[in-house]
Amino acid sequence: MEIPTVLEFNCPVCGKDNRLGKLLSDQVKDAGWMRKDLNFYVSKIEGVVSDPMMESRKPIGSKTPAFCVSLDICLDCGCFYAAKVEIGEAVKGLPPVIQKGKIPPFSS
Ligand SMILES: [Zn+2]
Repeated sequence: MEIPTVLEFNCPVCGKDNRLGKLLSDQVKDAGWMRKDLNFYVSKIEGVVSDPMMESRKPIGSKTPAFCVSLDICLDCGCFYAAKVEIGEAVKGLPPVIQKGKIPPFSS
């Protein structure tokens, strides 16, 4: 079975696409502070499929399945659901080098 890379869903209860994230982001788009073609969702869950105990065995540059689930709330029935599922790959890179006594850049 071929795995799709992007799946989009309407509300599984009422079948509509009346999302809170869309309603709120339309106000920001109207103000000119957000790209018109950007789809905004109220929450996201992202992850990589891995076993932390086996991670050291993976070579640098190896690819692992990864996912991002965009969640939203239906304004017609209140259902909290997965509106969009994206499936891809994560490439293992080099771990960050932290020198003793120095603060890494971009940290807070
Ligand atoms: Zn609904």
